[in-house]
Amino acid sequence: MGYISVFDVLKIGVGPSSSHTLGPWKAALQFLETIAIEEVESVSVHLFGSLALTGKGHGTDIAVMMGLSGHDPKVVPVEIVQELPDQIKASGKLSLGGKNDIAFDYSHAIQFHFSEQLTLHPNGIRFIAFNQLGAELSRQTYFSVGGGFVVHENDMGAEAVSEGINVPYDITSADDLEAFCMARRMNIAELAMKNELHIAAEGQVRGGLNAIWEVMRDCMFRGCHTPGLLPGGLNVRRRASDIYKKLASEPRQAANSLEWFQQLQSLQPPFNETLNWISCFAMAINEENANFGRVVTAPTNGAAGVIPAVLAYYVLFSGKEVTDAKIQDFLLVCGVIGTLFKNGATISAAMGGCQAEIGVSSAMAAAALTEGLGGNVGQSLMAAEIAMEHHLGLTCDPVKGLVQVPCIERNSMGAIKAITAANLALASDPEKAKVSLDEVIQTMWHTAQDMHQKYKETSLGGLATNIAVIVPEC
Ligand code: SF4
Repeated sequence: MGYISVFDVLKIGVGPSSSHTLGPWKAALQFLETIAIEEVESVSVHLFGSLALTGKGHGTDIAVMMGLSGHDPKVVPVEIVQELPDQIKASGKLSLGGKNDIAFDYSHAIQFHFSEQLTLHPNGIRFIAFNQLGAELSRQTYFSVGGGFVVHENDMGAEAVSEGINVPYDITSADDLEAFCMARRMNIAELAMKNELHIAAEGQVRGGLNAIWEVMRDCMFRGCHTPGLLPGGLNVRRRASDIYKKLASEPRQAANSLEWFQQLQSLQPPFNETLNWISCFAMAINEENANFGRVVTAPTNGAAGVIPAVLAYYVLFSGKEVTDAKIQDFLLVCGVIGTLFKNGATISAAMGGCQAEIGVSSAMAAAALTEGLGGNVGQSLMAAEIAMEHHLGLTCDPVKGLVQVPCIERNSMGAIKAITAANLALASDPEKAKVSLDEVIQTMWHTAQDMHQKYKETSLGGLATNIAVIVPEC
């Protein structure tokens, strides 16, 4: 594995799933680059393993249509995501790459291979393009390996995102990270910044981090102000706006999320209300995520609420003066810790269950909060370790394949655990810790390998098969 930039760990995109929506979307865009679009008469798409089993609930089919239409998930207006796929289904036509109108019969063009899994990874997707004579023009297979990362089948095993970029601190383990920081008298954010400056200029890096925080904050703002039911047929009611109304007993109008946050900054809620605010922020983000809204993958979409909720806690309620630079540092630390898990274990629920999503995001947030609150490097790594230790074995069992139950509430739990982990670490001597971050990452990976397939984003076990919900036809 090579260096992974913070901008590959934290990506602006569209919900509801990084591996099942963002990844297949990006795979479709990559596929377009392999074909002469004008020569294509038709395309077929094949989903395997977890992508087939939970693909409908996770919007994989929608993502594929958006990608084949040439839209960029980072900038496409979310209204188009909610409208275009229905138009394609109704018309039976798709504008390939936005350039060539082809026939696209949804029921045949996208095939869900429910009982077939490709050998290299549970999240396989294959695209085939045909010409007028029905001859194959291109056949490409990709794997969505978690967190929106996509790898062509020929590149599996060599999936470093920023491969070839020489950074001063090529971290492969938490021990490495601590040793580098100690030797150079740097904290984690400073080390991460020095690496990022080998990829982009400082203004670009800081601007990019500001943009990530803005998308997170906007997402919380929308989620806290949007009632209603979530799509997908489970009739899950959005709750963040109700919680928000109770907490902000006389909410003032705010023109945007920045103004809103400035208003919230004057609050000094008691302990129990603080907990409710954190839950509210986390759920607001994940309700937006479930509604195909714009989110930051952090490190996945299912877990997109944990880091923003903890960062909001840091900004609003920690009692610290949190400048833009401190927010940037927070995100940089998140990126480094996410990389340790991606390289040492997995951030794919199809490989490791929910410990790889909520558990990793909680560990990232815990370390970042600890450093933000003045903890040393050892304490920050200890906080990440504590947060993951108490997510080990967490399964992925989304009901009806939707990123809603248990996912939305689970983000609240991940955020609260992160804050508790940070406070435990800040009150502790990391020299006396019995478990290191590297050991817990290794344990998570072993647990992932032992976990039954039905608990790895297949909706074949756990809550997905044991709750008595009445699911209306949709
Ligand atoms: S259960 Fe966890 S890992 Fe699975 S979809 Fe939900 S948030 Fe993601």
